[in-house]
Amino acid sequence: MPSLWSHPDYDAHETVHYAHDIGSGLSAIIAVHSTHLGPGTGGTRFWHYVDKNDALTDVLRLSRGMSYKNAMAGLPLGGGKGVILAGEARAKTPAMLSAYGQAIDALGGRYVTAEDVGITTADMVQVARQTNYVSGLPQSDASEAGGDPGPFTARGIYLGVRAAVRHKLGRSSMDGVRVAIQGVGSVGGGLARLLAADGAKLTIADIDRDKAAELAAETGAVQASLSDIMRVEADVFSPNALGAILDEVSIANLNVAVVAGGANNQLARPDDAQRLFDRGILYAPDYVINAGGVINIGLEYLGESSAEEVNARIDNIPGRLEAIWRRSEAEGVPSANVADRMARELIGR
Ligand code: NAD
Repeated sequence: MPSLWSHPDYDAHETVHYAHDIGSGLSAIIAVHSTHLGPGTGGTRFWHYVDKNDALTDVLRLSRGMSYKNAMAGLPLGGGKGVILAGEARAKTPAMLSAYGQAIDALGGRYVTAEDVGITTADMVQVARQTNYVSGLPQSDASEAGGDPGPFTARGIYLGVRAAVRHKLGRSSMDGVRVAIQGVGSVGGGLARLLAADGAKLTIADIDRDKAAELAAETGAVQASLSDIMRVEADVFSPNALGAILDEVSIANLNVAVVAGGANNQLARPDDAQRLFDRGILYAPDYVINAGGVINIGLEYLGESSAEEVNARIDNIPGRLEAIWRRSEAEGVPSANVADRMARELIGR
């Protein structure tokens, strides 16, 4: 494993902070990629890493991704991310979350946290007892920005999928458009309901078969196996479960015209963007299409906004994707590379 300096994902991070608290057993890494546009903002992941070195790779990639995502969403926020290294039993205690809150506070506002995989709104309330640099807290008034980001993320992806279908297939309605959805949790499930209401024909797969069966009954979706969902013939493949699912083999097997979904870090390697491009598959860069949630928690943190303003900003996602696809086609460069270049310009790199 390389040292931090030579780590392939280091990318001149401004801060990489290791936090350890013997009393509570907290082990965490907080990475701040860039504060060029504002405080490094991004969620905290609670995950059991079998190899601890994977935690560093994860936090560095996710933190840089947040710099790009926040910049492309037009937010005055930089990029950062936290990971708490869960033990094998995945025990998460209030004392551990308190120690984590203190570690965030010690960074003096360079990092602002929120929920990510394995962290709940209640966990954030615990963290917020130790520091003000927290977002994603429960809102008492539904007209305020903030709270669960999932439905906002789902709405942004829904708008992005519609834009992709218009762009690639020239269809202005989703009626009869075939969409294969991998993962029907908070984001994928919300997306499925919005698409079904528009008349889209859905195929879904989730490791939680009961959840998928329930959603299939509600939306008229057909269930596929976990291995088939990336191979079924459809117009759109929408990944909403894991990252790194688009690789040489899976891209060769795709049977769709569009890939547009909410999972973070969908491309296993940077050259997978070229593979999608070479196959003529329109790709919606993940951090552009899935920005609805961070727009929600970002505006909550900035304390300046309503749910109406959040939705108005999410309405800009299709236009941003269109601009990327047009540049991609004009220059003959994959959309993911165009988005990265635009994001890096915005953060002064
Ligand atoms: P979630 O945990 O609610 O849902 C994920 C779903 O994927 C679960 O139902 C799970 O059973 C399923 N799943 C896991 N592995 C699978 C597999 N191999 N095949 C099929 N299904 C599988 O999480 P979520 O909040 O819906 O997030 C989904 C993705 O979107 C994640 O990659 C997350 O990082 C990303 N994302 C979420 C948000 C948000 O606001 N929640 C914002 C941006 C990006």
